[in-house]
Amino acid sequence: MLHFITRSRTLLFAAAIAGCVVAGGMTATSGMNTKATHSINDGASAPEEQNPLLAKWVGPYGGVPPFDKVRVADFKPALEAAMAENLSEVERIASDPAAPTFENTIAALERTGQTLDRVTTFYGIWSSNMNGPEFQTVQREMAPRLAAFSDKITQNEALFRRIEAVYNSPAKKKLTAEQQRLSWLYYTNFVRSGAKLDAKAKARLSEINQKLAGLYTRFSQNLLADETEQFLVLKEEAELAGLPQSLRDAAAAAAATKKVQGAWVITNTRSSIDPFLTYSDRRELREKAWRMFVNRGDNGDAHDNNAIITEILGLRAERAKLLGFPTHAHWRLENTMAKTPERAVELMEAVWKPAVARVREEVADMQALADKEGAKIKIEPWDYRYYQEKVRKARYDLDQNEVKPYLQLEKLREGIFWVAGELFNFKFTPVENVPVFHTDVRVWEVTDKTSGKHIGLWYFDPYAREGKRSGAWMNAYRSQERMEGEVTTIVSNNSNFSKGKPGETLLVSWDDAVTMFHEFGHALHGLSSNVTYPTLSGTAVARDYVEFPSQLLEHWLSTPEVLGRFAVHYQTGKPIPQALVEKIKRASTFNQGFATTEYLSSALVDMKLHLAGSEKIDPDAFEKKTLAELGMPGELVMRHRTPQFGHVFSSDSYSAGYYSYLWSDVLTADAFGAFVEGGGPYDAKVAARLRKNIFSVGNTIDPAAGYRAFRGRDPKIEALMQKRGFAAKDSKAAGSGKSKSGGKQN
Ligand SMILES: [Zn+2]
Repeated sequence: MLHFITRSRTLLFAAAIAGCVVAGGMTATSGMNTKATHSINDGASAPEEQNPLLAKWVGPYGGVPPFDKVRVADFKPALEAAMAENLSEVERIASDPAAPTFENTIAALERTGQTLDRVTTFYGIWSSNMNGPEFQTVQREMAPRLAAFSDKITQNEALFRRIEAVYNSPAKKKLTAEQQRLSWLYYTNFVRSGAKLDAKAKARLSEINQKLAGLYTRFSQNLLADETEQFLVLKEEAELAGLPQSLRDAAAAAAATKKVQGAWVITNTRSSIDPFLTYSDRRELREKAWRMFVNRGDNGDAHDNNAIITEILGLRAERAKLLGFPTHAHWRLENTMAKTPERAVELMEAVWKPAVARVREEVADMQALADKEGAKIKIEPWDYRYYQEKVRKARYDLDQNEVKPYLQLEKLREGIFWVAGELFNFKFTPVENVPVFHTDVRVWEVTDKTSGKHIGLWYFDPYAREGKRSGAWMNAYRSQERMEGEVTTIVSNNSNFSKGKPGETLLVSWDDAVTMFHEFGHALHGLSSNVTYPTLSGTAVARDYVEFPSQLLEHWLSTPEVLGRFAVHYQTGKPIPQALVEKIKRASTFNQGFATTEYLSSALVDMKLHLAGSEKIDPDAFEKKTLAELGMPGELVMRHRTPQFGHVFSSDSYSAGYYSYLWSDVLTADAFGAFVEGGGPYDAKVAARLRKNIFSVGNTIDPAAGYRAFRGRDPKIEALMQKRGFAAKDSKAAGSGKSKSGGKQN
């Protein structure tokens, strides 16, 4: 498939992204077409045979990535060879003497770039999971060159004229619906990438894209440096006051990794900081940890991101103007479900007020508790998680540490497999015979439970390590398609759990369990794909739609079927007591003021930064002013402050798009209602409808139409308000009474 379609993907591989789905499918060969149709290395030598990154994937399941053969030194020559090959493939299509048809233009383009897809798959994995100084040097050099490469294709005039001819041809009506959508997508993406501009504007656009690619790389590398090089050292046992044993163990393990003797270390990542802020009794240490975390990329030192952001925003504004849009936000949203920034802002503002009002209630509750304890403090941001946990205990008698022994990572994994079996008839079988990029990675084959038919592979890389970016995400190594025989998909889930000691059971928090279901939802979206063309496959859908299947899956964690079988105590094997489940249910909307407000403040700042047009922006000052205008409560901060907002500044992908989690959650809450109104979460008929209209269709249909086909109507916002506990108290609770927490916004 053509790489410009996945421009965001190319750029996103130029820098580790922070969103939770690496969008766009990777196409690759499936053993067909084994002879390279065109190679720039004509002649005796065949360097691609020597560079394993270029080789066709061989082995079982239609070929698997040869992770055992990857060497960082091979990346640059592989990318260069693959880009050159792709350009010559495209040039052959552009210069075809035959009149343009869907087959000789659009379908032909879909067959190009297979080598580059394979190389960028490795490149993406190394940037997110296996990053290090040697690889960073490659990234800094190659990111701008990948951007220039994309522009060379979108700015190929002869090629665009052919695409335009197919798109405007009366013969288009005779194509299948999927082919028509693909033609539309190619045409739209070319135009959106500047295909209609004059030569001078095109040259400037390409210059901008290359500069941006370099800036994204620097932004990500600065952030990774602050997350790696800064950490909090706890020198004596007294400084661990309040921390549960699992956190103490993790802090000891982190100290060993950082080679800090006789102390404990709290690393500067969310998975380490959030629990510390929740449990540490030492207020001055909480403040220290909090300041370290919220100031990532904002310390006025060599890793400060402010100047980089100013430059990114300026270039994005200029690019939008060149492309004929008032702002970057307008350009980004044109091909989303929301369509315009105004509609996205309207939704955010509708939820903002009730969320802030809830924060006031939460703060009042916490302040009262602190006063009662005689703490003599005013709740500050580094107190929020700490007192919130105390209120949770007091009000719902719910202790997170009481839940954790029932949440074993491996049991939950079995739980998500079981859910996939119930909903989509999938079966997961571990396989040992395929190479992995790290010994931590495990692989399962996915088959149809009834027919035994092979569906795909699922790679699981659960543990944190140096050189792996924080957070959790899904990535597709190969997309399902059937242009010339069935190509099955390869997907992965990635997260950052502390591994613990060998043989020790890994226990996770309720939040982490929700995240597991979320990322697995992305994986199921990829695995369910049933399309013809690779560009339209799996999770390659609109940014504000892609979080819908994943957020929807979160709902199945709290079903009695999953909790009863898979939330079992790691020592006694007994299922989680019903009384505890009831407590979790009652507390499900607890703290939604905090969760929604920290998320929405980030989403609103993202949108406003990109609606500001050509105004020169000082990120810190802009953030401060915008939050003041919004009436941001002083007791909490944005989930991602501007200088560390990787979703927005490590690539284009979630820029002016962080609202997507909320947009998708409207669909999620409303869609789960279909199960509740039907026969419950495992209603086979509703699940079949879900698979048919949402999970399997990729980008072959308009998402709004797909949703309507599933639900029988357009989505309504009421279910979301109820899910987050913002609905009027007396409103009917029929909708999502069984739903749990708000959608995951990572
Ligand atoms: Zn996600």
